This record gives sequence, C-alpha cells and structure tokens, in this order.
Amino acid sequence: MHDHRKLGRELELFDTDPLIGTGLPYWLPAGAAVRHALEEYLRQLERLAGYQHVYSPVLAKRELYEMSGHWSHYRDGMFPPMELGGEQVVLRPSLCPHHALLFRSRGRSYRELPIRLAELGGQYRAELSGVLGGLTRVRAMQLNDAHIFCTPEQAADEARAALAMIRQAYAALGIEPVRYRLSLPGPGSQGGGGKYVGDPGSWEKAAVMLAGILDDSGLDWEAEEGEAAFYGPKIDVQVADASEREATLSTVQVDFYQPGQFDLRYSGADGARHRPVMVHRSVLGSMERAVAYLTERHGGAFPDWLAPEQLAVLPVTGAQGQAAASVARLATERGLRARVAGPEAGTLNRRIRSSRLVPYLAIIGEREAAADQAALRLRGGRRLPPRPADEIVAGIAVHAARCRTDLWDGEP
Ligand SMILES: [Zn+2]
Repeated sequence: MHDHRKLGRELELFDTDPLIGTGLPYWLPAGAAVRHALEEYLRQLERLAGYQHVYSPVLAKRELYEMSGHWSHYRDGMFPPMELGGEQVVLRPSLCPHHALLFRSRGRSYRELPIRLAELGGQYRAELSGVLGGLTRVRAMQLNDAHIFCTPEQAADEARAALAMIRQAYAALGIEPVRYRLSLPGPGSQGGGGKYVGDPGSWEKAAVMLAGILDDSGLDWEAEEGEAAFYGPKIDVQVADASEREATLSTVQVDFYQPGQFDLRYSGADGARHRPVMVHRSVLGSMERAVAYLTERHGGAFPDWLAPEQLAVLPVTGAQGQAAASVARLATERGLRARVAGPEAGTLNRRIRSSRLVPYLAIIGEREAAADQAALRLRGGRRLPPRPADEIVAGIAVHAARCRTDLWDGEP
C-alpha cells in the first residue's frame, strides 16, 4: 500500500503549515472534493435510514464535560480550558454531550423514539506533537457521528442497523477491514473510581447485546479487553494503514451511562417517565482518517464517484479545444468534476499518462469533434469506440451517482 502522506502531496489533497501547527492539516481543492463527495454520500445514507442532521458548537463550558464524565476520565486527551468572562470553556473531545442536550431540549414521548441525531462535526484531541502525522493523527478532526436515543427494547435493532450501514458504506467505498472487534473494559475495573464508569450490570448487558449482533451478522470477530470507551463497550471496525498499523475506522456503542448523567427521560405508554438508551455510532469515523485510509487503499485511484477529477477531456490538437470545452461544461452541469487537458500540457500520450488516476478520459480528435462525439478511455487503459459526447457524460453521471467501486463500461 502507498503512504497517504506521500500521495497526499503528489495529488495535492492536503498539507500542513508550521504557522497553523502540527496535527492541523488543511484540505486543498482536490482533497476537499473527495471529502465533500464522502460527506454527501454519508448524509444521503443517513437520511435514507431515518437520521436527522443537526449542528452544535465545538466549544462548551467545562461543566458539560464534568457531567458527561469526560473531564474525569478523558482530561488528558482534552485541550486545556480557556478563561472567558469568569467561565471556563473547552474545545469538545466528543459530540455526545451536545446531542444529549439536544434530546432534552424538550419533553419526549415514546412515540417519537428512536430519535436519530447525526452531525458531521469538529472534535479536538490534545495529541502530543511526537505522534502526529498526515491525516491519521490530528488535533482537530471532523467526525461523522450520530446518537440514537431509543427505548431499551429498541437498542439492539438500532445497533444492528448501524452495523449494516457501516458494511453498506464499505461496499461502496471498497473498504476492507482487517477485523471486527468487540472492545471490552480491562478486567475488574468497571464501576466506582476506576478507568470506567457505570455499574457492572449495564456493562454486561451492553456487551452481551453487541456480541449477539456480531454473531448474527455472520462476521468473524474477536473480543479484546481494555479497548472499551470509559462509558461502555463498543464494536470497533479495524483497518490497517500502509505500514500495517491498525486503527479504528467505525464504531457502534450501546450506552446506558450518559443518559443517566444527563437525566434523559421520555414518557412511556404507561404515562411514567423512562430512561432512554444512547447508541453512539460512526460509519466512517473522522473525515481525516477515512480519506487517509481511502487514499492508501486505492493508491489515489479513487472510485469514480469519489475521484477529485472524474473526467478529463483531451482534445488531440488545439483545433478541438472548443469541442473539448463544451464537453467539460456539459459534464460540470451534470454535477461531475471535469477538466480539459489541452495540448499546452504536452503530447496526447503524455497527457494520458499524467491523467492515469482519473477514472475517465474523453479523447476528441478531428472526426469526433465534427460529429459531437468522443472516444472514452477508462482508467487502466480500456478503450471504448467513439459515441455521442452527451451519452458519455450521461452514462458517467448516472454510474457515479450509484456510488460503486467499478467504472462505467459504456452499458446503459
Ligand atoms: Zn457519542
């Protein structure tokens, strides 16, 4: 596999600047295009699964994280508080506490549940500078996060659906996990004052539920102690980077603890007030880690719907420049990312070589220009006979909208 830091520079996906600081990468246009496509895909996936999207601030008062348990169990990973008008505000280490407050912003009835709140939001981690690099270890990340507030009876189905959603996204993106892990607490350390919070009964209940979901999924999985979140066990989907280091890309967690900390309630069918369960899940983790992984996994040859540049239009000579520009414009109007690579960029062969990671090349010679046609060349070298340019653009646009890992091969 390729190193995403090297590819990221070559493909101009992202970079860093000492004046911004280590662990704080910025996204260049090509990287931003990949990330935007990924974000749109996730939003659509979530919309179809009944999620509602929200926004919440990346800062909050220190008291919020004292209430959630982050302040006592995760402070080492948090940026120091900022003093402001006699208060202390902190960059958030996670989105969970904000979403808990959104849930309790008004009374809730069992009829509304499950409520699935999704946000692609910033979270911050005070990583030491020694371990930072590229997009995989960063101090600021954009997390594809969601919290499902549901009845205890609904929790297993919600967690199961979240795992299915993760696998659907993996198929669209060509992601191949190295393993599915059930992350459990270290031995004998739950409850009271230790590394983990909550009562042993809740931990056991959540662990049994997640193990059952993994068993039902037919996936190979293994349990590992010491990898749980401080508030509960979780399913972690592990991927490997170019140097075969393992990292967690996606997670599903069942949490009986934070709803109690925030005193979340809903009114039940019996008229009494009940405690909801929180299912935390992330389909692709942070955009930084997801794009780093996808860059390495595909060696920069992204699936067509994700590629920074989806179509390059190559006029054979300057005489076809206008025909090429109108094909590129047509493609842009269809929502594709397209560009003309004209003779000023070198011979045709040279332009083909330098566009080797672009999924589709439309080549326009004298004959094609006269007939409003183009000859399509797929990444990898396969060539299709000339056909009307508008058919090519429509074929690629329809195929890209399907979010698959193969290329359009000219079939309707
Ligand atoms: Zn969460």
